[in-house]
Amino acid sequence: MHPWNQSILDSLAKRLDRLPHAILLYGPQGVGKLALAERAAQLLLCEGASKPCDKCDACRWFLAGNHPDFRRLEPEALAKEPADTDEEPKARKAKQPSIEIKVDQVRELADFVYIGSHRGKLRVALVHPAEHMNENAANALLKGLEEPPPGAIFILVSHRPAQLLPTIRSRCVSIPVPIPPREAALGWLAKEGVKDAARWLAYAGGAPLRAVDYAERGSAALVPVDVREGLEPLAEALQKTALDRALIAFGLPPKYQTTSSAVAPEKAREWLAFARRMGEDRLLCRHPLNPRLFSAAMLAAMPSER
Ligand SMILES: [Zn+2]
Repeated sequence: MHPWNQSILDSLAKRLDRLPHAILLYGPQGVGKLALAERAAQLLLCEGASKPCDKCDACRWFLAGNHPDFRRLEPEALAKEPADTDEEPKARKAKQPSIEIKVDQVRELADFVYIGSHRGKLRVALVHPAEHMNENAANALLKGLEEPPPGAIFILVSHRPAQLLPTIRSRCVSIPVPIPPREAALGWLAKEGVKDAARWLAYAGGAPLRAVDYAERGSAALVPVDVREGLEPLAEALQKTALDRALIAFGLPPKYQTTSSAVAPEKAREWLAFARRMGEDRLLCRHPLNPRLFSAAMLAAMPSER
């Protein structure tokens, strides 16, 4: 779990004996919600004195990924291992893993939740990302939330809570997981050895895990941003990309290494003009404006690939 979420875990630990049977952890992508949810599950299952202790049997099973009273519900595409190993390897490869949480998965979860605890304590089900439940799955889960079996706790994780069924949301106690304070995020990124951390963090709108992602790829995703701090890094990324493409079109090596793919020579001037405009927009970014509209306008002005 990430240090900036410790206070949320502490507040859960303080009211362990009167926790609701369904918790919704929600917040932007890249703030460590899943790691927090996992730690919260361990907290609930721990049988030690100061929870979570990392030492008792329950904690050791949990950390090894085989606590009998814990289930994780996520789309096949996110699961670490293929769900069905009976099939021929060839057939498995051909099938695209699903990005939805399906109703069968929720039914299996219901069996687990109703069967009773192996340790005579709680059973914990983690659903992530909750908005990836298809309609049937969401309705099946709702039944479990409406009439929860005693001792069962559901932890839902979502970065788009507005996409959840309102009836599901209303059955959960919602706990926000916000963007951490900038200093805490920068301190953690420094420990992780991330170079240029302030720039990537700004581009990621303050979400540290997304900043790590960008830093590893050496580029930021060229998508609209919702926060003002993300505008200038986007303009900068677009400007560098455009300059590189113009140089390639002129038959020269790219300066910033943002791309190495071919660019048609007749596109050179267009990319150069776009790079100039992004240079101007970098200055404009410092003025108050709607970040989403402004970044969408920047992206719309980008020349087409061919
Ligand atoms: Zn423990």
